[in-house]
Amino acid sequence: MGIANSILEGVAKELRRRPGNRAVKVGVRIGELAGVDPDALSFAFEALTVDTDFAGLAIDIEYVRPRSRCRECNREFEVRNYESLCPGCGSLSPERISGDELEFKYLELEEPESAEDERAERELEVEKK
Ligand SMILES: [Zn+2]
Repeated sequence: MGIANSILEGVAKELRRRPGNRAVKVGVRIGELAGVDPDALSFAFEALTVDTDFAGLAIDIEYVRPRSRCRECNREFEVRNYESLCPGCGSLSPERISGDELEFKYLELEEPESAEDERAERELEVEKK
């Protein structure tokens, strides 16, 4: 729940900077080593947003494998199954460069729509196109 909560806080913070906008979708990137189960996060996120102003806000989770860089040959590679062997030269001492990240990728917003003059606005939009 903690992470879902902080993602929502981030969304709320961004929305305060853009009054009137509605958040539609939030994208996050989570490293395999961050200790977050993407399914559990989706579930917690939905449970937190239902029946709130954020109801319907979708979460797009990109789950990424850790990456390492070899200290010998400088090759960057994806770490699978916690193996730490460089696929380039076989060195056993690669340096972990990512894998425990938990970061925002994007926030999709919906522009404010004037409820009073909705029809006029729609006609205007058609004209523009
Ligand atoms: Zn190497």
